Amino acid sequence: MNIRHFLRSIADARALLSFYSIARFTALGSPSLFDWAGIHFCLSQIKGFASHKNGRPEFWIFRIKLLLDMLPTLTTLQQRKPYLYFPDWLCPQCNSAPEDLNHLWTCPYILLELNPCLTHRSEVVKFRDLCLSSFLSLKLLDSTFQTAFCALDCWDYETPSPSCLWLTRGLLSAHLTTFLKQNFPLSVIYKIISPLFNDFQVKLYGDIWLCRNVFFHAWEESQGISAASKLRGLSSKPPIAISSQFHNSSLATVSQDSWISWISSSIIRGGSWISHLDFLRRLTVQPLRISFW
Ligand SMILES: [Zn+2]
Repeated sequence: MNIRHFLRSIADARALLSFYSIARFTALGSPSLFDWAGIHFCLSQIKGFASHKNGRPEFWIFRIKLLLDMLPTLTTLQQRKPYLYFPDWLCPQCNSAPEDLNHLWTCPYILLELNPCLTHRSEVVKFRDLCLSSFLSLKLLDSTFQTAFCALDCWDYETPSPSCLWLTRGLLSAHLTTFLKQNFPLSVIYKIISPLFNDFQVKLYGDIWLCRNVFFHAWEESQGISAASKLRGLSSKPPIAISSQFHNSSLATVSQDSWISWISSSIIRGGSWISHLDFLRRLTVQPLRISFW
């Protein structure tokens, strides 16, 4: 046995344990709802992790932020910079609900070709059907498999179900792998799902998040929120009062740029990606500590 690999695997297991113990995940429910080994596998397959020096890191930053609910949605910005983003502002695209993470996929924006809700639905269907056809190509299974697979809660894009929204975020449902394990070994399940999951999130990134960003920046300008006013905000004191809503959601007081530059430099140095998670965990508990002061 290679002792270095052995110690590395222990360190990775410990980092994975602290990762899924992060408050933002435990707030969703029992850790047993999610397939953490599968989530780990899918994340470690992101090309950006391996080719950061040559590749574009934007997509993997999107995936990590999405997973950790750190994307700069309006709700997050309202918490981070309440002096720029007023708390009663709703989603600029539909003006019907606060723009939080889940709203990105359920926003009923009026223009059909740019409607995030319709795009999300069609991408979930595509992801589900590609998974199904890939598994069926490996093994001859009767129609009950197909029916039961499509009826899994994580594919319920109509409601959408919490597990469908969690899947969108990158949290692989335990019930999905438990179901597939009846017919396939875990290694095959992950190998099939991982690239399709990546393609699914690439579409979310390109067709929903980037489009939303273009619209959002135009909206910010119309509200008089310029790059300069955001920079000025950095020198302001953060608000002393922290609402109870704030505790549950995101890293409002932590500069996102600081952890991105940290994680990028660590990857360039060749560190194991999972060792970064301990850093993320420390960031995550920080707002909770503040809340007790
Ligand atoms: Zn909306």
